[in-house]
Amino acid sequence: MRYAISRRDLMKRALVAGTLAPALGLVGKNLRAAELTPLDPNDPAAKSLGFVTDASKVDAKANSTFKPGQHCGTCLQYQGKPSDATAACTIFAGHSVPAKGWCKVWAQRPG
Ligand code: SF4
Repeated sequence: MRYAISRRDLMKRALVAGTLAPALGLVGKNLRAAELTPLDPNDPAAKSLGFVTDASKVDAKANSTFKPGQHCGTCLQYQGKPSDATAACTIFAGHSVPAKGWCKVWAQRPG
């Protein structure tokens, strides 16, 4: 038996797929963000890299590389847009970090 599909059906399916794909993409993105747990500053790895949730509270004496204005939102490792409140960080897999946070691995994000 041969199954025939009309051009009209094909166009309808393409329109539905084109409409749903972005919506499904957003759902997937939100699920990924929801899977991240906020990085705890007391986590041993976070502590060893001097992670803080608020860069304005960095102990500059203990962190000689810190310069005012540095924070996660401007870091190369930050996986979100600088305007995102939190995002993944390539250094701390499975965790989110706040845009205003900081750690010793900070490196200027280009642009
Ligand atoms: S590596 Fe960058 S984005 Fe990650 S915690 Fe450190 S300063 Fe923030």
